[in-house]
Amino acid sequence: LQAFDTDAALRERAAKVIPGGMWGHQNSARLPAGYPQYFTRGEGCRTWDANGRSYIDYMCAWGPMILGYSDPDVEAAAARQRAEGDGFNGPTPRLVELAELVVDTVSHADWAMFSKNGTDATTACVTTARAGTGRRKVLVARGAYHGAIPWCTPSVAGVTEEDRAHLVQYDYNDVASLEEAVALVKGDLAAIIATAFKHDLGKEHILPTREFAQAARRLADEADAALIVDDVRAGLRLDLGGSWDLVDVKPDLSAWSKAIANGRALGMMTGNDRFREAATKIYTTGSFWTAGVAMAASIATITKLRDCDGIGRMKSAGQRLRDGLQAQADRYGLPLRQSGPVQMPVFLFEGDGDRELGNRFCLEALARGVYFHPTHTMFLSVAHTDAVIDETLQVTNEVFKAIA
Ligand code: PMP
Repeated sequence: LQAFDTDAALRERAAKVIPGGMWGHQNSARLPAGYPQYFTRGEGCRTWDANGRSYIDYMCAWGPMILGYSDPDVEAAAARQRAEGDGFNGPTPRLVELAELVVDTVSHADWAMFSKNGTDATTACVTTARAGTGRRKVLVARGAYHGAIPWCTPSVAGVTEEDRAHLVQYDYNDVASLEEAVALVKGDLAAIIATAFKHDLGKEHILPTREFAQAARRLADEADAALIVDDVRAGLRLDLGGSWDLVDVKPDLSAWSKAIANGRALGMMTGNDRFREAATKIYTTGSFWTAGVAMAASIATITKLRDCDGIGRMKSAGQRLRDGLQAQADRYGLPLRQSGPVQMPVFLFEGDGDRELGNRFCLEALARGVYFHPTHTMFLSVAHTDAVIDETLQVTNEVFKAIA
């Protein structure tokens, strides 16, 4: 542990040269005071902040670290590619290998295209749907997050009404509201977009009902529009074939990013043959979108997740954590409400409108070396073993005792 507060010193310097000190969701000012802003190292399920404090990390870099930080197999694949080269005048052979692997793995996919971020991928899906249908309207669930550019950012600053003129809202898991939205746009429906499950910030997380997912498929088909699943957050954690395989619904287009390259920057749009031609028509590209290292990392990530039953392991660890926390909350009489898939949980407290209890729970855990988030989806990785869960539960037992 360093006596000098490096994190505070960095924040002070940042305040002068970075607007607001930090932008976006990773600004630690959005968290209760006490959370670190800067990090220097990650290994398996652990991270180290700039002051040298280590944490068992339940955010996994906001999702990307699905095998754990510095996974040896992914890092070896990335290093081999780095030795050959990363960016050239065109892609490396990894592009074709990765697309083949994705088409073999993702059940609805007849093809794949790559980018760098989740926003690139959701935007490409919407653009492809409009190009393929020749229509404008896109149905978006109220409160859902699909990225950080004008058509979808949760902020209104710098956004014009026209940027969102062709979006119509519906309520997730509410078939009637989806039907109403479809009726409203009549002959102009390009796409229905839905996240893998309902994971709005600060709200209980809810899986899609089979009824809702199948209605979305049916309504898109009846209108000859696209069904888009935004699998950016959940992709590869719920089902390697795509998250809506769990409800037996195949989208036309899916957006991916976060976990697909275990921390390397990669976004992906997958699609079926119906939208293959449309995908050739849109113009989408970026300076770094063909870089080989991230693709080599992605091949290693998907292969390893498949071969080690990564999802099964995350689910079993997540269930162990959920059961352990619930028993502790009950013992100490605290109204903990855990929701979401066990490998992507959110922890909220009943009647905690001002988040006082949730924030205290997280800060007490942080002080004892466990990094939780008070309102956002959290993420387990394959590196969260049973031993790590048990170590976490020892900490949370102390946390519950302290706040009860
Ligand atoms: N869609 C969903 C469901 C997401 O969770 C995110 C990222 N949190 C995005 C899109 C945007 O991804 P990115 O931040 O990589 O652009």
